[in-house]
Amino acid sequence: MTDAQLDPPSRMLMGPGPSDVPPRVLAALGAPTVGHLDPYYLEVMDDTRRLLQATFRTENTLTMPMSATGMAGMETCIVNLVEPGDHVLIGVNGVFGERMCDVAGRAGATVHRIEAEWGETFTPQQIEDALRAHPEVRLVGVVHAETSTGAHQPLEELGAVAHARDALLVVDAVTSLAGAPVDIDAWGVDACYSGTQKCISCPPGLSPVTFGERALARMDARRTKSQSWYLDLSMIRAYWGEARAYHHTAPVNMTYALREALRLVHEEGLEARFARHRLHHGALRAGLEALGLSYVPKRSLPMLNCVRVPDGVDDAGVRRALLVDHGIEIGGGLGPFKGRAWRIGLMGASCTRRHVTALLGALGPLLGADAGAALRAADEAYRAG
Ligand SMILES: *Cc1c(COP(=O)(O)O)cnc(C)c1O
Repeated sequence: MTDAQLDPPSRMLMGPGPSDVPPRVLAALGAPTVGHLDPYYLEVMDDTRRLLQATFRTENTLTMPMSATGMAGMETCIVNLVEPGDHVLIGVNGVFGERMCDVAGRAGATVHRIEAEWGETFTPQQIEDALRAHPEVRLVGVVHAETSTGAHQPLEELGAVAHARDALLVVDAVTSLAGAPVDIDAWGVDACYSGTQKCISCPPGLSPVTFGERALARMDARRTKSQSWYLDLSMIRAYWGEARAYHHTAPVNMTYALREALRLVHEEGLEARFARHRLHHGALRAGLEALGLSYVPKRSLPMLNCVRVPDGVDDAGVRRALLVDHGIEIGGGLGPFKGRAWRIGLMGASCTRRHVTALLGALGPLLGADAGAALRAADEAYRAG
């Protein structure tokens, strides 16, 4: 094994990420490396920024990929916008809200939690009430797509709610970006982060972020330096801005890959891509329900389908059989959902009819259920469009 040629197994990636990576993106990764200050690379950076602005639907100049995975995007937002002693309000309805509290606490914030049952979301009124109860809060953090529960948090009104109380709105869009609408400017989101390996269908390794005017003003008014050297945007801005000042050696080939993945996103078109995610989600849902499975969240994300493991079914055994016998990866439950939920991703290049059909066909017999009925239910959903 150790000295064999690199030969990964062929998989259909239908978990919570990574998703399948299109050949064009893999080919971009293998293009010749140039220096990270090479004029060619600077053009790649500019292109990547433009494509990310279009994906986030924002005019924000400070829009770029951080050189690490989605969690680094979360830390970037927190360590640049929070100073020790600041009060923040975090919506906790799953693993990633919980993590945001942890990150903010480590950055020295006083963290106020607003909690909802796992699978539930927050109403604007709940956020407003929490802000009224804690008027010292200066930042609100919420997760748009809670990958641990499949819940889809509505964001349209939250910007106005936060701004009325002089708080910034920070959003985790790691799983939603490029699979469902993320309208940074229209929704008044002040800072947002994402990841490459979910609906963008690029390998893991970068975290796109975007910061708006209010967030920049907050950064410029800091009394203390950011708690992180590596993620300090006051320096990274100079690298991505006019100065092109060396900060760290950018992951050149990952930027090639991200640019190519974003080109694919915009060749398809955002609206068409969102419609594709809704279509296959509808068919998968019809099929899973025909197999007797029930969804955890009331408002399900299209790209992440979280269903309960039926009583008496061996969670790990089913997932192992899917992987080993069918080459299909799905995700298990996290935290309190461990052993109790499956997380089935339909993200980016993994969101096709082929994926839906293969999963339903494989899962039926493993559950002792009628795969034919599930496939017919999915078929009907496709015909209904
Ligand atoms: C995947 C994910 C992250 C973390 O991203 P990594 O790339 O694993 O660091 C953060 N938030 C949400 C909602 C996610 O789904």
